[in-house]
Amino acid sequence: MNAAIRIDPETGLKVFNTRAAKASEKITGKGYSVLTDQKLKELPETPAGAIFNAEEQARYRMFKEARRGAADYMGMEGEFKKYLDDVYSEPPIPREALTDECEILVVGAGFGGLLLWHRLSEAGFVDVRFCEKGGDVGGTWYWNRYPGIACDVESYSYLPLLEEMGYVPSMKFASGFEILEYCQNLAQRFGFYDHCLFHTTVKGTTWDEASGRWIVETDRGDKMRARFVILANGILTTPKLARIAGMEKFQGESFHTSRWNYNIDLRGKTVGIIGTGATSVQAVPELAKIVGQLYVFQRTPSSIDVRDQRATTDEERATWANEPGWARARRARFSKISAGRTAIQANDDYLAGKIQDIKQPKHHERELTPEELTQKQLDSNFRIMEQIRARVDAIVKDPKTAAALKPYYPYGCKRPTFHDEYLPAFNLPHVHLVDTAPRGVGEINARGVVHEGVEYPLDVLIYATGFQWMGTSTFNMVTGRGGRTLKEKWETEGTRTFLGLHSHGFPNLFIVTGPQGGGGSFNFTDAIDAHSDYVVWMLQTMRKRGARVMDVRKESEEAYADHCRDVDIATAPLRDCISYYNGEGNAAPGSLAYYGGGKWHKFRLQAQSTLEPYKFED
Ligand SMILES: Cc1cc2nc3c(=O)[nH]c(=O)nc-3n(C[C@H](O)[C@H](O)[C@H](O)COP(=O)(O)OP(=O)(O)OC[C@H]3O[C@@H](n4cnc5c(N)ncnc54)[C@H](O)[C@@H]3O)c2cc1C
Repeated sequence: MNAAIRIDPETGLKVFNTRAAKASEKITGKGYSVLTDQKLKELPETPAGAIFNAEEQARYRMFKEARRGAADYMGMEGEFKKYLDDVYSEPPIPREALTDECEILVVGAGFGGLLLWHRLSEAGFVDVRFCEKGGDVGGTWYWNRYPGIACDVESYSYLPLLEEMGYVPSMKFASGFEILEYCQNLAQRFGFYDHCLFHTTVKGTTWDEASGRWIVETDRGDKMRARFVILANGILTTPKLARIAGMEKFQGESFHTSRWNYNIDLRGKTVGIIGTGATSVQAVPELAKIVGQLYVFQRTPSSIDVRDQRATTDEERATWANEPGWARARRARFSKISAGRTAIQANDDYLAGKIQDIKQPKHHERELTPEELTQKQLDSNFRIMEQIRARVDAIVKDPKTAAALKPYYPYGCKRPTFHDEYLPAFNLPHVHLVDTAPRGVGEINARGVVHEGVEYPLDVLIYATGFQWMGTSTFNMVTGRGGRTLKEKWETEGTRTFLGLHSHGFPNLFIVTGPQGGGGSFNFTDAIDAHSDYVVWMLQTMRKRGARVMDVRKESEEAYADHCRDVDIATAPLRDCISYYNGEGNAAPGSLAYYGGGKWHKFRLQAQSTLEPYKFED
């Protein structure tokens, strides 16, 4: 034993002290600024005569087809492995390897891990252990600390447990740095740190039939046993790189946005950033404020919607201080909004309960068929995209740059983004858009990026190339009954789960917010909430029944997977683009990044009342 592990004399449980200190005080930043220019905070009207007619549909198709097969990504292998180093914390706290047993082992200490601990401990499950790859809590908000990072869902709804914490976010869209601090305060307040092994990556999770336990192995030499394993390892945690010829030759500094290197002083430097997705859209305006020259290499433009950031008002603080349950009620209202853009705009009057509905419900003379409904949605998405394109023209002065910044795909088909400073940044003389459509950057050499024979020499190259969806090793290394891995099962049968939370042949295992896992809204922490409640319900049910092992029945899993497939097929026209949501256009129906149906709660409630989908063993 060393100082990192001690025994609590009251409970007999191990208490950990493995949280690593922050690597440097230079790691700090802010999110969206509050702007006064009203023009930047409003979408232009839909241009007259905007109809998603055959000509526009053909244009969308061309845009998509030109990019087919262009997305070639790779993991951080070989010399790129260094991009995965934890640059945010001091080195790991030394500790002995653990070979003992706990009741519940959770992988991940993001909001998933934090909310699970809150619910589990409240319900009396305290023999719970967390393994986290990073040096501290926060997950997404631990790893992503690029300048400009902020929450895209309004923070009064996104941050869970605000009343319990007595906290009000400073801004409507809080910065990632504020969210990380909130996670740390949450962990402190609810005693999470005592239960977490930081700088501990789970390498393998194997079901042992004889003992009815999972054997969990980590990169710290641990071989722990647990009756239950909960994967709360997130879906966007493994960064990926675009595979570009010659990338290993670059002699300047380089890093991925999810490991921002604050030791490099970017002031006055010539900087290139590859990728223009949600991260880049937030980082570019901040980079533009400090670098000498900025080259933004774009393959596909994002839809850049209005942000309209604001600070929390004194009036709101005063009202909420006297309104118990204000945040829970707000989260509940947020979860009722079914249209993505409406959710993200986050109408304050509706969310505060001052008005009942945001839009007048539309009444049709007869019930529309599913196809007609999809067409209506496509038409309205087209009108939104027309506004988004008109915004580009209204803001960006150079017509060639403006043309390149206009996206042609259904709204919401790729991750929508929001910013009021991104488009104006391209009017600055030192910010250059390099349009590499439709195939992307083709070459990197020792000095910088080369595109169509033009070399762009760079001091620093930043990869804003996103994440491997579901790419964490955990999914690949869960071995269930009969020695079969979850990866093998899903590769041969397609994604097969019940509620996204269970997979047949993997007893006593829960997957939080994994594939096919619905129950949430556009607010991710909402799904985490629903899944955490479900996990607690199942554990309590098993306790009551005296059951030691549970699995889902194959038939129930198949019925649910069929439902997910049918939903994906029905909504396919809304996702007619190349995106990580649809596996770059290759995902089979039922295997998309997110569950698209609205029936998760129906399936859950039915299962909880009949218990039919479950097989319990004593
Ligand atoms: C840049 C960015 C911005 C986002 N913005 C929003 C937003 O505005 N609104 C919204 O609703 N959602 C947003 N999301 C989604 C966000 O991921 C969720 O909101 C939420 O934070 C997910 O929490 P989680 O705990 O499920 O996963 P994560 O936060 O990803 O945490 C999972 C943790 O598991 C750890 N882990 C993974 N594998 C292992 C392993 N094998 N062993 C040990 N530990 C492991 C990881 O290190 C990580 O810390 C954003 C995501 C990203 C990447």
